[in-house]
Amino acid sequence: MTVQRELPAAMLLACLLAASPLAAASLYDQSVARLLADRYSSTGLSYILIDTATRRLIASRWDAITEPVPVGSLVKPFLALAYAQKHDSTYPHYFCHGARDGCWLARGHGLMDISSAIAYSCNAYFINIASTLKPEDVEAMAQRYGFSIGQAPFGAAQMIGLGGDWRIDPRELLRAYMVLAGAPRVAGGAELLRGMALSARMGTAEAVSLTLHGAAALAKTGTAPCVHTPRGPGDGYALMLYPADQPRLALLVRVHGVPGARAAEVGGRMLNTVVNLD
Ligand SMILES: [Zn+2]
Repeated sequence: MTVQRELPAAMLLACLLAASPLAAASLYDQSVARLLADRYSSTGLSYILIDTATRRLIASRWDAITEPVPVGSLVKPFLALAYAQKHDSTYPHYFCHGARDGCWLARGHGLMDISSAIAYSCNAYFINIASTLKPEDVEAMAQRYGFSIGQAPFGAAQMIGLGGDWRIDPRELLRAYMVLAGAPRVAGGAELLRGMALSARMGTAEAVSLTLHGAAALAKTGTAPCVHTPRGPGDGYALMLYPADQPRLALLVRVHGVPGARAAEVGGRMLNTVVNLD
């Protein structure tokens, strides 16, 4: 007869309740990890889910997780922070004319402030602010937010994440976003968080709000050169923090062969799965 069988039910319950928070966390992590692995098994999908309070990795499927990858426009909030550091935390307005200003949206975004530029990922706005920055400004910002940038991006196009030369360790990027969304608020950060909330609601990441049935989240999308074999036209990235107010979960997804807006759809569904488990 095992010891366990001799324990009365009340004592067993007491033991369970006294279990360390870590044990409870790992039980929760195991169920989340299993659920995500079962429901989102597509080979073109990579993801990393982190608990923001403890910085604990809850679940992941990501080949070569320590290897820096191009993340496209996911660098934009941090480029903005490099700008804020140099300009008293104030951001300019800029009128995007579209293709002739180097924006991906041919017809142009019109008048943008920093929050709408984040929400709609306006290249023209960010090329404009990047043109005032030197590689060492970006280096100083990256150091402050705890990610290594390897070769510092050079020139406005590289600085806003175009071309795929600027590569970042995906876990370091997630941590940097958690610092941005956490307390105390970083200088110039509030406008960026407003932009990420707007992105999830009606910007390039609007699929997040739709899949979460309207619940507020923070999100940013990116589209970057493909890192897979065989090569696709590109990889879509979406980074989400949930809930928008004091985020508890941080999720990064990468979907092979689609733009960032489509990755946001997959990420939103995954987040919805996790939230419904709680
Ligand atoms: Zn634009």
